Amino acid sequence: MPSEFDLIRQYFTRPTPGAILGVGDDAALLQVSPGMELAVSVDMLVAGQHFGVADGPGTVGHKSLAVNLSDMAAMGAAPRWATLALALPAADEKWLRGFAGGFFGLAGKFGVELIGGDTTRGPLNICVQIMGEVPPGQALRRDGARAGDEIWVSGTLGNAALALAHYQRRVELEHREAAAMLPFLHLPQPRVAAGIALRGVASAAIDISDGLLADLGHILERSGLGAEIHFERLPLHAVMRRHIALEVAQNCVLAGGDDYELCFAAPAARHETILDLARQLELPLTCIGHMTAEAGLRLLRAGEIMTIGTKGFDHFAA
Ligand code: ADP
Ligand code: MG
Repeated sequence: MPSEFDLIRQYFTRPTPGAILGVGDDAALLQVSPGMELAVSVDMLVAGQHFGVADGPGTVGHKSLAVNLSDMAAMGAAPRWATLALALPAADEKWLRGFAGGFFGLAGKFGVELIGGDTTRGPLNICVQIMGEVPPGQALRRDGARAGDEIWVSGTLGNAALALAHYQRRVELEHREAAAMLPFLHLPQPRVAAGIALRGVASAAIDISDGLLADLGHILERSGLGAEIHFERLPLHAVMRRHIALEVAQNCVLAGGDDYELCFAAPAARHETILDLARQLELPLTCIGHMTAEAGLRLLRAGEIMTIGTKGFDHFAA
């Protein structure tokens, strides 16, 4: 039976050239780049709630870091370091190998170093803290939007939720369609490059983890504004488009979780700049509406205004 220290050494100790001191001491030592602000965020993933107990360990490793990278993206921060607090029911080395593979695979792609953590026995629970850097005053906060700013989203919406709906048999996708949607659920791609590119362009930003309406709602609340968005403008994957007549698909697009796309506001004068960024990033950026001085989130659909209640989309979908 490997000890806790064997496990840490074998699975979670990698070179950390970007830290003064990484895994192995009582604390890591970090030097933030001169003049930069430190952006810090933490997310907990609970088995059975944020991922399925049956999900592959590689998927869980990827996702536990991806959700944190997405928070860095939403701040316009460049991710640098992470810590990992892990509760494990048993020292299952096959699981640990898979988990570390998923985690470090994504970490390597974004230049993030694991510099410490904690490992303990307990119900499966994963807590990743991430630290990144952003030039002073340039972070993309939720409270910076102005009335008249355009509202944009990256990528396409609702795919992860559609995949989940398929596996929960709330919608029936063809085999090929399900195969196209599954990676959005299991291997979300955080929009880090887009977040960094939007420094000095976006006035406010958030990552869509709880659904477009809920997360845009956070920007509205923090910025003290309302918004008008157009259902017909929402960017949809080809598979989603084939099913969009279904209420369940519409719910995925408007209120589905786990998108990890960015939703941001920007002055209308930056419209062409943002379209140029989309081409450079090879990532669709779509204008879906604008901020209003009048409070409330109004969804326009087929020319009709539907005021969205606090209960979300279900409230008015019928
Ligand atoms: P302490 O007793 O001071 O909490 P630990 O024995 O928990 O130290 O951890 C020893 C070292 O291993 C520390 O540097 C800690 O940051 C690191 N560590 C523990 N668990 C993990 C993990 N899951 N991933 C990365 N580093 C870890
Ligand atoms: Mg400890």
